Amino acid sequence: MLALQWGTTMPEGAMMTTEMDDGCCGASRRRFLAAGGIGLVAAVVGGGTAVPAAAAALTEAQRDAMTPDQVVQLMLDGNARFAAGEQRERDFLAEQQATAGGQYPAAVAISCVDSRTPIEVICDLGLGDTFNARLAGNVVNDDVLGSMEFACAVAGAKLVVVMGHTACGAVKGAIDDVVLGNLTGLVAKIRPAIVATDYAGERSSKNPEFVDAVARTNVVQCVEQIRERSRVLRELEEKGAIKIVGAMYDLGTAKLALT
Ligand SMILES: [Zn+2]
Repeated sequence: MLALQWGTTMPEGAMMTTEMDDGCCGASRRRFLAAGGIGLVAAVVGGGTAVPAAAAALTEAQRDAMTPDQVVQLMLDGNARFAAGEQRERDFLAEQQATAGGQYPAAVAISCVDSRTPIEVICDLGLGDTFNARLAGNVVNDDVLGSMEFACAVAGAKLVVVMGHTACGAVKGAIDDVVLGNLTGLVAKIRPAIVATDYAGERSSKNPEFVDAVARTNVVQCVEQIRERSRVLRELEEKGAIKIVGAMYDLGTAKLALT
């Protein structure tokens, strides 16, 4: 089996890069590797015997064998470490140096602006690991779609994640029909999720269960919108090059779960 780690400093040769880079030249690539490199790395576990990660460089074949599902698992595993208080020690300056010449993120995420939900932190990731778009209520618009298309079709990311969270203020605002400047138009994008949420109890922003149910519906609808509104991403997913998934992050438990 293939055991995967994400965001660990590894020796040269252990790098996982995506199939298409962003124009990184040979010299900067060498600097990138010389600096140790970060990103996705793999350790082979064969015959029931674990091989230490540092001793098992990711081969080209292993890199090519990386699936979107494995990237999902990497994020979930990172979140499990975070939720358990066992996140990896990081040298952000070393990561900055390692990624200065090029980036090879494996995922692109749209998540809420909420200060408690930075995906790198809650999934124990580092610089260069994931593209990020953040908008209140993790709503999708044309610019977000364009950013995702860049991330996947140009830069080679293999996963699109829509991440909502519990107790989302934007969702509460949508339920309450908030009218405030440009926020009015933003919460209108969440409103269809309210209508589509099948919930028999109190349908108000005062009910945390209902708020979270709407947030979940919103994530599902955003995933559907991405597929409907982006032919580029839809076709990449249809041919298995990427996967588009939704997830909910629980502010109380620190756990991330796919929707
Ligand atoms: Zn929020």
